[in-house]
Amino acid sequence: MSPPAYSRVLLKLSGEALMGDQGYGVDPAVVTRIADEVAEIRDIGVQVAIVIGGGNIFRGMAGSARGMDRATADYMGMLATVMNGLALQDGLEHHGVPTRVLTAIEMRSVAEPFIRRRAIRHLEKGRVVVFAAGTGNPYFTTDTAAALRAMEVKADVILKATKVDGIYTADPKQDPSATRYDRITYLQVLEQGLKVMDATAISLCMDNKMPIVVLDLNERGNMRRAIMGEHVGSLVTV
Ligand code: UDP
Repeated sequence: MSPPAYSRVLLKLSGEALMGDQGYGVDPAVVTRIADEVAEIRDIGVQVAIVIGGGNIFRGMAGSARGMDRATADYMGMLATVMNGLALQDGLEHHGVPTRVLTAIEMRSVAEPFIRRRAIRHLEKGRVVVFAAGTGNPYFTTDTAAALRAMEVKADVILKATKVDGIYTADPKQDPSATRYDRITYLQVLEQGLKVMDATAISLCMDNKMPIVVLDLNERGNMRRAIMGEHVGSLVTV
């Protein structure tokens, strides 16, 4: 078997990815499935860091739309990601995968604080690292946290796992003539306003030449195939 194309990956999972068909919260069956796939990737010797979202529980924008102070609502959103992080850790450890949750907002009795060198050390020791609480700052998203943490831990690639199998010229649900990009540049994504990751995250990746693979989380084995160097989904690069 040829070696993996990437040795350290940053997986971005949205909060919605964890809720399955429930419409809210965390579906244990989905967590189990994701944990199973992450365990498989780790078994081939790939180091895995995960940035987890919180949209299945709370989004700052939704709170501020209902009159809350935006920063306060964003802190609630970040706390939601910590809950998801713990759920993911639980699922992974049930699969025998040693996992550490590192949070950008300190809460020492729940999770370790984010310390960059410690995160790298965990990865080197074969532990899966789950980054929670986004960047720790309001007005950001967990996509931006994914870009930031990928750079900080020197990941080779960001795997953005979504509900669609890549980036399309338009929303394929609304426009049946939409086609999928196999490869696209950061600038094209920004200029065309494609909803891959938010503009801050894309710009950060562009400035630091961090490749992004957008793939369908629901198709089993996709993450492993992408890591082994198969073309899966859409690749965003220079
Ligand atoms: N959030 C934040 N700063 C960050 C990351 C997240 O304020 O660095 C808040 C923001 O309110 C966001 C919520 O946490 O709406 C949940 O994150 P996100 O919407 O990125 O989750 P996802 O869409 O990936 O589930």
